[in-house]
Amino acid sequence: MSISTLRIVWLYPDLLSTYGDRGNLLVLAHRARARGIEVEPMQVRSDQHIPHGADMYLIGGGEDGPQAVAAERLLDDGALVKAADAGRPILAICAGYQLLGESFYANGRCYPGLGILDLRSDRGESRAVGEIAGEGSAALDIGPITGFENHGGRTHLGEAVQPLAHVSAGIGNDGVTEGAWAGHVVGTYMHGPALARNPRLADLLLSWAMGIDPRTMPQVDDAWPERLRAERFVALAPE
Ligand code: GLN
Repeated sequence: MSISTLRIVWLYPDLLSTYGDRGNLLVLAHRARARGIEVEPMQVRSDQHIPHGADMYLIGGGEDGPQAVAAERLLDDGALVKAADAGRPILAICAGYQLLGESFYANGRCYPGLGILDLRSDRGESRAVGEIAGEGSAALDIGPITGFENHGGRTHLGEAVQPLAHVSAGIGNDGVTEGAWAGHVVGTYMHGPALARNPRLADLLLSWAMGIDPRTMPQVDDAWPERLRAERFVALAPE
């Protein structure tokens, strides 16, 4: 591996970071360090410029008001759109996922998104709250997915993105698919945090950041994540 330090930007913790989303940064750092790769976490508040040229960008979920403010500031800043264009990996959770699309609803209004992902979000008839599970995209080879969701939005995918998973429990985008990906950009409704519950997705993002094949990455001890996953899947199994 040619990279010795990964610079990972954790965007807008002052606006978007619910249900343990910052755990995604901790999981990436832990899994990189287990492979001898240092991680330099860069926490960027919404009143700061987003650095160009980092190795990965993470953005979390949040309530409607902070989501609308975050989208406006991200559009003004422009660096996240440039990072996507440059093929940098981006992981976006829930509100962060919706605002990567063409448009989203917040507080009864439609807002422009960043247009990084070909999708649009509107509102569902009821809030989607609880466990979410499904079969991850075969193309990404991430196995079954597990997370926690809490959102009012529903997301409609365009042709330039693929679903991250097909749901077996919970709602995700629309009760059929969950999340979306295109290139090295992944959006998901999974909190929990998503990468603690889905280590193969964490490794995929790391492999993209390092420009290597994920199958060539040394194994890490996944006894604890596997216990957590088994527990969550059992919780969804019919009695
Ligand atoms: N405000 C958005 C919605 O309700 C996102 C919620 C979240 O990030 N948990 O759909």
